[in-house]
Amino acid sequence: MAVYPIVLSQKSFAHKDKLTYPFEERGLQFGDGVYEVIRIYNGKTHLLQEHVERLFTSAEAIKLSLDYSLEEMISLLEKLITENNMTVDGKIYLQASRGSVTRDHVFPEESVEPNFYAYIEDLPRNLKYLQKGVSVITTEDIRWDLCYIKSLNLLPNVLAKQAAKEQGCFEAILHKDRRVTEASSSNVFLIRDGSIYTHPATNGILRGCVRMKVFEIAKKLNIPIVEEAFSLDDIPSADEMFLTSTTAEVMPIVKVDEGQVKDGKPGPITRQLQAAYEEDAHITINKIAETV
Ligand code: PMP
Repeated sequence: MAVYPIVLSQKSFAHKDKLTYPFEERGLQFGDGVYEVIRIYNGKTHLLQEHVERLFTSAEAIKLSLDYSLEEMISLLEKLITENNMTVDGKIYLQASRGSVTRDHVFPEESVEPNFYAYIEDLPRNLKYLQKGVSVITTEDIRWDLCYIKSLNLLPNVLAKQAAKEQGCFEAILHKDRRVTEASSSNVFLIRDGSIYTHPATNGILRGCVRMKVFEIAKKLNIPIVEEAFSLDDIPSADEMFLTSTTAEVMPIVKVDEGQVKDGKPGPITRQLQAAYEEDAHITINKIAETV
């Protein structure tokens, strides 16, 4: 996947080959930092304000001061796209850490600047999966108690996603005592009798930007959303299931472990949400419904 040459480092732009960090970097040594992934459709960001707001929430939660205003961050990220003349579908990855300094668990002196960088790369939409749906596994949620922070510490998520891949699946659904929280890099929804169920926005999940957009869409379509955790035991009788994330969008789930969801095809409510999501994102080409 091509990374565009111009990256945003601190408040200025540089060629990607010029960006290096010392090995003593708190993001690398402690995972002491936060990040975001923001979708780009046809060279335009989607839900940018929401992602930047969440970045500030995450940073505040770990007592990291970002040295940017929200507006400043938004305009720098927009400029990153124009500096690279990017016009296709892609994503921004951005990361902020507590800086480069001699390794010590305690926070560095205030004079140590946080490290911040952002880059963009092409990311075509996953139309085949969006059309046909995906299989997932279930596994225990072994993460910490502050999952609303988008922290760099992703080892449990990495292990869960790898387990999914090794079983030929797209995602791993996480559960605590059989209650489904979310997935390794997406939120999870179950539909039964016309209502959509998903875990409430406690500290136990990441408050997904696409999750919030789906809430807004469902409200407009008069589809009830119930913020109530469902159990693994509810899955066999589900009418439909889907995942949401910036890169996966509204992704139908058609198989969970060995069991098919209903008839093994994306359901009608999921299709409705996908279409409304495309409309919201102003995706005018490559529509899911037009994919064979
Ligand atoms: N949960 C986790 C653990 C994630 O990593 C992600 C992806 N950022 C999500 C949910 C979905 O969040 P969003 O819709 O903002 O991409």
